[in-house]
Amino acid sequence: SNALEGKAALVTGGSRGIGAAVAVRLARDGADVMLTYREDTASADAVAEQIRAMGRRAVVTQADSGDPGAVVAAVNRAAGEFGRLDIVVNNAGAFLLGALEELSLEQFERTVAVNVRAPFVASQAAVRYLPAGGRIITIGSNVAERTVFPGFSLYATSKAALAGMTKALGRELGPRAITVNLVNPGPTDTDANPAHGPDAAAISGLTALGHYADPADIAATVAFLAGPEARYITGATVNVDGGFTI
Ligand code: NDP
Repeated sequence: SNALEGKAALVTGGSRGIGAAVAVRLARDGADVMLTYREDTASADAVAEQIRAMGRRAVVTQADSGDPGAVVAAVNRAAGEFGRLDIVVNNAGAFLLGALEELSLEQFERTVAVNVRAPFVASQAAVRYLPAGGRIITIGSNVAERTVFPGFSLYATSKAALAGMTKALGRELGPRAITVNLVNPGPTDTDANPAHGPDAAAISGLTALGHYADPADIAATVAFLAGPEARYITGATVNVDGGFTI
């Protein structure tokens, strides 16, 4: 489709996995895309090349989501490069697991910085630019709603916070016709959670569909929420999890 023709999007953590699939899908639907990454420049450049090959503009910027100044600078740069900003996808995440007694304060602070503070400050910086019809979409996690393995206390805490942020921002930005939504993926085949990793069979068995998502499955829902047909959805959490949470 060309539902996003003329729109400009920012995707954090767009060099690999779900973020890369989202960046490519938004471009396929017509958007120009800036993607951030932390360290894998080659992967980020490859995603940008894929987007340019579709005739869309792509900008790559190194920005650790753990650094709020870098997040704000990325938002400002996206708006500057494209002359507008319509869609923000908060995707970059920190996935730190461990037994409660073993998790450190540093791990707590890192997780909250990347998973909660970054989406918050990106939203804050972006509302200066987002027009009516603007979109804020954050990637949460299925484990915020159903936590089946030990070791997820910190990660689940951070991802659960996003539902509250999404509802409150949806309420606050509704009068400006900006929607704010949360997409909770289930097990999705990425470097962080490979579909053929050692725990994959057990994880697949916890879904209703019995298998992992492809990153494109998550990206399709993000693209729908980003598009004009989703204009009446705000403050929602959309589970794209193969039935993991039912
Ligand atoms: P991947 O590890 O496959 O990819 C992570 C991407 O985010 C890379 O582009 C990476 O950049 C970037 N990134 C990581 N940390 C930072 C950071 N601090 N600042 C900027 N960019 C960063 O992860 P997934 O695609 O699996 O996960 C994406 C999101 O989906 C996360 O929020 C995760 O919590 C969530 N999620 C994933 C699930 C899954 O099963 N895969 C399930 C539920 C939720 P670089 O290439 O430079 O390292």
